[in-house]
Amino acid sequence: MMITGKTKVLAVLGAPIAHSLSPIIQNAALQAAGIDCVYAALPVRPGALSSAVYGLRDAGVVGFNVTIPFKTEIMELMDALSEDAQRIRAVNTVVVQTDGTLMGHNTDVVGFLAGFAEHGVVPAGKRAVVLGAGGAARAVLWGLLRSGISSVCVGVRNGAKGAALCEEFAADGDVRSAVFDDPDFLACIGSADIVVQTTPMGMTPHIDAMPPVDVAAINSSAVVYDLIYTPAKTRLLREAEARGHETINGEMMLAAQGAEAFFLWTNVRPDMALMRRVLREECERRG
Ligand code: NAP
Repeated sequence: MMITGKTKVLAVLGAPIAHSLSPIIQNAALQAAGIDCVYAALPVRPGALSSAVYGLRDAGVVGFNVTIPFKTEIMELMDALSEDAQRIRAVNTVVVQTDGTLMGHNTDVVGFLAGFAEHGVVPAGKRAVVLGAGGAARAVLWGLLRSGISSVCVGVRNGAKGAALCEEFAADGDVRSAVFDDPDFLACIGSADIVVQTTPMGMTPHIDAMPPVDVAAINSSAVVYDLIYTPAKTRLLREAEARGHETINGEMMLAAQGAEAFFLWTNVRPDMALMRRVLREECERRG
């Protein structure tokens, strides 16, 4: 597609940003949909987020994604926040509305739940275990609660951090945390219907690493969902599969959070199959 004076601009802001997969996925989807728009990766200097955000707004960009390390800092620059962004306390997608106001969204929850939907897994009424209490765990916890999960036990290495996270969501359901070797955690993992892995353990290049759980201790009928997408199958998922568990990786989450952002900017549903294929091909190309 030819870039002309009418071509609109989308972007992702982060630091570092050169390895972001988003430009590849979003530009493929924009082109396939015939939308006259380009998506660029913009490195933002520490301390320069507000000037970058207001500059993009004033220069007429349609919207942008925000990634590490700006997902929390950007919240105070928004004129309004979606419910998901408020609950997760992080923004990954900004829509510049026609009147110039900035609307902050978080599409990670929609992305996370799309992974279940693809596998026909319904979280409502189930018991879940979440491994880790970082940024991704917040989206997972809220996504599970929003879906009517019966209970969630968050496995952590830092008890105080786990307790603080659960406290924030205490009014939304049965949520508690326990350190990984606590008997309460072992009981939870032994009876869970769903186990969601949100730590970076096992991510490329540390592909032999595992989160601190014994796969043999997981309830044999549990679905095991790992948010990691490189490698496509972490050691946790490989071991879980070998024991007969249904497994889900983070590819759908990544593609679907991007697809939701695309929709928020363009009001068009992108070609998800294309986004998935482009994502996988690029991950394989990078090794
Ligand atoms: P984060 O904010 O740094 O949180 C990581 C969590 O893992 C923290 O709770 C941390 O514990 C825990 N952890 C780290 N190393 C550990 C270890 N050795 N043993 C036990 N726990 C450990 O990171 P994040 O942003 O949540 O991202 C986590 C992972 O999710 C990454 O692999 C990322 O690629 C993936 N992710 C995927 C998607 C997707 O679209 N598929 C989206 C977001 C994230 P402490 O709290 O004690 O530090």
